[in-house]
Amino acid sequence: MITVITAVIGAILGSVANMLIYRLPRGLPIAMARSQCPTCTTPLNGWDLVPIVSFVTSFGRCRHCNAPIAGRYLLIELLCVGISLGLVSTWGISVPLLYWSIAAYFGLLIFFIDMETQLIPDSLSLVLLFTGVIGHWGTGSGMSSVISAGVAGGGMWALAAITQKIYRRPTFGGGDTKLMAALGALLGAVGAGWALYTAFIIGSLVTAPLILFKIKKRTDKIAFGPFIILGAVIVSCACLTGHFPFTQARLVPQLIYLQR
Ligand SMILES: [Zn+2]
Repeated sequence: MITVITAVIGAILGSVANMLIYRLPRGLPIAMARSQCPTCTTPLNGWDLVPIVSFVTSFGRCRHCNAPIAGRYLLIELLCVGISLGLVSTWGISVPLLYWSIAAYFGLLIFFIDMETQLIPDSLSLVLLFTGVIGHWGTGSGMSSVISAGVAGGGMWALAAITQKIYRRPTFGGGDTKLMAALGALLGAVGAGWALYTAFIIGSLVTAPLILFKIKKRTDKIAFGPFIILGAVIVSCACLTGHFPFTQARLVPQLIYLQR
């Protein structure tokens, strides 16, 4: 029963995520009336508003103008169902569940918004930052979370400044710096550092073929936020499953607190 409820909540969250990913970067009000078809602007109603089911029963097309609906909508809803199921089976109904759900959900929003617009709304990074600090405060490591945010954010800022000097063009944006500060609060400075390192590896693996096959130019802007999020997910999963390759207790004390 709890699996079904979790999956339904996940699908609803996914549907809300789709709305936020569309509206936030466009500056549209979040509490605006019902969502509409981006092509013919017919307001959605009835079955159109049921996540996943609507996409499948309409064969991924608008019921009014027949315009194809991006598969990303379905992907995000399915992702949210998977994330919800994974988190509930890991944490049960608990405080860490709330903590990691907020982290995962806002991470997902940042991932897709940055990928599409190459901007990370400050509000999203702020929510992550506060979640990190408040969560750690509850376990007695609040101050270390604040310091970690400063170290991770400051480090990223310095890295952006140095690489900008070397390459004589903007490298990392302010959004990346704020996101790193938020990750510092969530994962600790060391955890955030490893997330960044992982992001560079994934980033190189993904962009090298794009440049090699001339799909992108070396000077093209490629959003870095999604790689940071992926790095953070990998580091978090590695820590929580005990596969972090270094002494967890020394490197990421905050995660250990939350794990208890
Ligand atoms: Zn339409």
